[in-house]
Parts: sequence; structure tokens; C-alpha cells
Amino acid sequence: MTTTAFLGLGAMGFPMAAHLARQARAAGGRALVWNRTQSRAEAHAREHGSERVDLPGVAGADVIFSCLPTSAEVDEMLARLAGDLRPGTVWVDCTSGHPQAARRQAAALAERGVAFLDAPVSGGTSGAAAGTLTVMVGGDPQVLARVQPDLAFAGKVVHVGEAGAGFAVKAVNNALLAANLWAAGEGLAALARAGVDLGAALDVINASSGRSNASENLIGSRVLTRAFPVTFQLGLLAKDTGIAADVVREAGASAPVLMQVEALMRAAAHTVGAGEDHTAALRLIEQFNDKEIK
Ligand code: NDP
Repeated sequence: MTTTAFLGLGAMGFPMAAHLARQARAAGGRALVWNRTQSRAEAHAREHGSERVDLPGVAGADVIFSCLPTSAEVDEMLARLAGDLRPGTVWVDCTSGHPQAARRQAAALAERGVAFLDAPVSGGTSGAAAGTLTVMVGGDPQVLARVQPDLAFAGKVVHVGEAGAGFAVKAVNNALLAANLWAAGEGLAALARAGVDLGAALDVINASSGRSNASENLIGSRVLTRAFPVTFQLGLLAKDTGIAADVVREAGASAPVLMQVEALMRAAAHTVGAGEDHTAALRLIEQFNDKEIK
């Protein structure tokens, strides 16, 4: 029976770990949870039947999952657990992290006989709750095959390459999300200034070739309504577009739109607030245009 542990019960980690707990109950395994703010882990144990442990207790698991803001917090956790980790353990990092960190972390853990997979996820908090997340994995495919049955929160799992490749794909994916979101915001702000009804305009765009996930699933429900519910923080999207820019530079690629998107997301996080929902980036476009997108 597998014992899993989950580090970081935030907006994503809390529902993801719930699937591990559900699977453990069904299969007779154990699902351990740890969170910096302990009350979150206590709530998880109460609501989902997981077991709250102190940090060293995490090292008792066969598979350790992490979902933290950035690779820097994963480094912190690795340092704090360094003396406790056991050979044969697999560390699956679901953070949207940095490819360089993944390569460094994988090499350091390999010296202790611990395997590392970068396994960031896409699908948002609703996908995490539904257990339908897309997982893009970098690292040894044989290690992935071993832990794949434990990815109880996944709808689709794709091995994309060596250590760091999962984080690189995730960063580019989110740069595309930011580009689509921003471009749709610019177009709608222009139409608002031209006096066009934006509900009608969005209806047309979503039945036409200009549509995107942002236009179909985000702008109508979050921007036009002025609700901007915080499920994915703007600061985290700005972090992802920064990683994408590093990927572009490291590859010697030429990607002027993606580099611009990084600058725009950083500016939006500074002016609108890093803790706001990512869709609130469009408030910066509203300032540019002295017009609300509604
Ligand atoms: P949250 O801010 O909701 O959660 C962050 C988690 O990290 C919390 O459990 C927090 O603990 C913990 N944490 C923060 N700093 C530290 C630290 N120094 N040491 C230990 N634990 C720490 O973030 P999300 O769940 O939204 O995002 C997590 C990752 O998933 C990010 O990399 C993000 O980019 C990615 N992601 C997010 C999506 C989303 O829709 N939200 C979608 C796909 C990927 P505490 O409770 O104590 O604050």
C-alpha cells in the first residue's frame, strides 16, 4: 500500500490532496498532509480523512507531492527535510516552478537515492476539485510509470521530456494564457470605447475565430461581471511569464510577444496588486483606456 504526503495545501494543493486521501481510503493506503499554517492541514484531515503530520513525518511517505508558490519554497522544504529523506522515495513537485531549479533539485536528490519529477498542473481550482488536472511531467519516464497510479488528481498525464521540461511547458502555457487574456482585454476595451455592447461582442468572439480559453471561460464570468474572484493570483501568473521569458532566453529563441507579456504582467501585478485574481490584469488596460471592460 502506498503512503503519499502532500506539502502545501493552498488553493490548488488542498483539493489535489483530497483526491489522494479519497484514493488512500479506497485502496487501504495512507495520505499524509503538511501545511505551513497548521490549521489548514487540520481542516484537511477533518474534511477529507487525511493524516496531518509534522514536517519530518512527511519523509515516511513513498511519494511526496509539493505544490508551493515557487521553486524557492520547494528549495526551503528540501533543505528542511534533507536529513530525513529515504532512498527509494519519489518527490513529485506540482509547483509551477523553474526548469533550472528542477535540474538542480533532481541532481541533488539523486545523490540521496530520491527521484524527482517536475509535474506542474493546469486546469485551475475547478480542475483540482474535479480531479481532471492536466499534468506535464519532466524526468525519468520509468519513475513516472511507477507513480502514475498515485496521481489521483489528474485527468491527463503527459511526459514531456527530461528534468525541467514540465516546468518549461507550464511556463509557456501560462504565457499563452496571459497573452490571450491581455489581447482579448485590449480588444474589448477598444470596443467599449467605440460604444459597442461587450456582452454581444463577447458572444460573437466566442462563436468566432478570435476565441480563447480566456474569452470563453474567464472574461465573461470574472471581468464583465466585475467579480474578479481570486482563484489564481496575478503575482503567480507574473512569476510564470517571467519563467517563460527565461526559457525563451535560455533557448536563444526570438519571442517578442512573450517577452512583452512578461513586462505587462509584471506591471499589472505592481499596479493592480499581486494578490488579486489574474484576470484583474485587465484593470491596467482599463487605466490605459479610461474605460471599464463591462
Ligand atoms: P496559494 O497561495 O493558494 O498556496 C500556496 C501554498 O504554499 C500554501 O499552502 C502556503 O502555505 C504554502 N507556502 C507559501 N510559502 C511557503 C513557505 N515559505 N514555506 C512553506 N509553505 C509555503 O497558491 P496556489 O495553490 O494557487 O498555487 C500553488 C502553485 O500552483 C503555484 O506555483 C501556482 O503558480 C500553481 N498553479 C496555480 C493554479 C491556480 O489556479 N491557483 C493553477 C495551476 C498552477 P500557507 O497556507 O501557510 O500560506
